[in-house]
Amino acid sequence: MSAAAAPEQQTYEFQAEVQRLLEILIHSVYSSKDVFIRELVSNAADALEKVRFETVRGESLLEDDRELGIWIETEGADSADDEGGDDAADDADEKASEPKRLIITDNGIGMTEEEVRDNLGTIARSGAVAFLEQLKKKDSDKDLNLIGQFGIGFYSVFMVANRVTLTTRSAHPDAHAVVWESDGLGSYTVRPAEGDVPRGTRIEIELKDEEDRFASEHTISEAIRTYSNFVAFPVHLGGEVKNKTKAIWREQPSNVTEEEYAEFSKFLTYDSGAPLHKLHLVTDSPWQFSALLFTPSTDPESMGFGEGEVSLQLYVKRVLIDGSNRDLLPPYLRFLKGVVESEDLPLNVSRETLQENRVLMKIREILTRKVLSELTEMGKKDEDRYLEIWDKFGRILKEGYHDFANREKIHELLRFATSQGERLTGLESYVERMPESQKAIYYFTGASRDALDGEPRLELLRKRGVEVLYLFDIADEVVLGSVNRYKEKDILSADMVKLEDLEGVGDASEDKKDEGEQKEARETAGPLLERFCELLAERVTEVRFSDRLIDSPACLVNPDGSTPHIEKIMRLMNKESELPKRVLEINATHPMIESLAALANKDKNDPFIATACEQLFEGALLTDGYLTDPHQLVTRMHEVLTEAASLKKG
Ligand code: ADP
Ligand code: MG
Repeated sequence: MSAAAAPEQQTYEFQAEVQRLLEILIHSVYSSKDVFIRELVSNAADALEKVRFETVRGESLLEDDRELGIWIETEGADSADDEGGDDAADDADEKASEPKRLIITDNGIGMTEEEVRDNLGTIARSGAVAFLEQLKKKDSDKDLNLIGQFGIGFYSVFMVANRVTLTTRSAHPDAHAVVWESDGLGSYTVRPAEGDVPRGTRIEIELKDEEDRFASEHTISEAIRTYSNFVAFPVHLGGEVKNKTKAIWREQPSNVTEEEYAEFSKFLTYDSGAPLHKLHLVTDSPWQFSALLFTPSTDPESMGFGEGEVSLQLYVKRVLIDGSNRDLLPPYLRFLKGVVESEDLPLNVSRETLQENRVLMKIREILTRKVLSELTEMGKKDEDRYLEIWDKFGRILKEGYHDFANREKIHELLRFATSQGERLTGLESYVERMPESQKAIYYFTGASRDALDGEPRLELLRKRGVEVLYLFDIADEVVLGSVNRYKEKDILSADMVKLEDLEGVGDASEDKKDEGEQKEARETAGPLLERFCELLAERVTEVRFSDRLIDSPACLVNPDGSTPHIEKIMRLMNKESELPKRVLEINATHPMIESLAALANKDKNDPFIATACEQLFEGALLTDGYLTDPHQLVTRMHEVLTEAASLKKG
């Protein structure tokens, strides 16, 4: 505490994070500084909502005879515009040296002295610090625009202000009015207000010279139109109400224009692009409720601010009960933003849990079902747009795989990469493309399209022209595993495929040497197979001839009956875990195997066979990402190359 001019005035340092933030804001070259108007107006609106809320709860508040509202006044610029003629020039010069001002007043809930110091001196929300870091790194317009979402909107006023004087009187009857003042340079003062102060908050902004356009009514009214058109309370400026104050979610959808939806979405979601989808529901049975939900065009989670939560505005009987309700949608639909209102909920609903309130639970069910079926519909009728949603939010949406009640709808929404081209596919269209004789849906996990296009274990399916879903994300394997069966088709990892499963599928003539030749090759390679078994005894469950390999000599597959995705998850969770033992398959008709077989028939113990066996085994581990130490493989390869080179040289 430091000594101050008036005895009752106290000076306080801003919290360190706030100081950092202010420093960034004061020096910001951000081009849309007018967002500070949105932030101050939205704070005023929040304060007014709180008055409504406390009033319906029967709290006794300090009265105010004006209707609930926001008033904006400007001082300086507009009057100077009117000045004309030489006589006025001196006068105008004098005026110009006086700072221009903008004043925003509301008759909302106000703040007590303690609240002022808590709210306007510290940063409460944890995401704010990460946001700050981001700002500092990039200083991009898009990021600053999101400032309001991190509980630090108020400070944006310092982008344009030299000094801010905020006078506030809490609506709680015994509170006294206080004045908070700061130049944003590290500290602020708090002192008791003089005279009779009405309920609410008045913010006087002394504008920086270079930002004096914000003392122009025209600029302010533009900003209100852009950002605050749907604020629920009248915003007065120059004797007029500048905003619509229309609660469009309560309207019948037929009464709302597309433009209004787009504007409202911007207002609500901070998303500058047009929403990718909207759901507007107004219903009276079995309960009265209305909802307006948007799928925004950008994913805030992708900006590195961590995982979000469901957050919808909940109104009950026209009162905002909860500005960020978590119960109205399941977490996997948290990318939706919007408003829900009901006459049939109690005003204290936010103190009840979801299970306690049947109506809330029902609304959630209805909204969830409706959103999922609209998205499914879109997936069929406007696939490009749906793929855009999937691209941005598929990661979140597929978390819904364990929502048992809606599983079928969610299955329709899944999209995967496929061997059949660059475009993502859903299960339904995969099944539509399937030849009738194909019994299962096949997928395979790999690092990339290139890796899977060249994957030996897919050779047979590839030759037969069977489509394989390409999974690049291990989560996809879990999701698909949970689908289990789709339209009576099994969903199988492609390395589980057996030759007999593919009877009648595609053209079999290409993929195998004729049976006689195959049989003969396997007979010849018998001793080689035995030798491989001896060499790898401890490391594989089995060595066998392969039906699936065509162009490659060997591969590793899971033993029959194992469920590969579970095994991988276990490995992910427990990094120490042992390598799973698998089956080594060899291709008897591959030239390399044929030569090794001939060698084995001469001398089973030829050391070159052991070298080749190790190399094939470790090579297969390597392509699967299971080889922990590649040194031996590389050394062995060098030995083989040395030998081969000397042979070539002749
Ligand atoms: P947020 O609005 O996200 O909480 P802000 O930085 O915009 O973050 O505001 C911080 C807090 O200051 C608000 O939560 C509110 O408690 C208080 N506040 C700001 N402006 C007003 C106002 N006009 N009336 C009452 N309280 C206000
Ligand atoms: Mg705010």
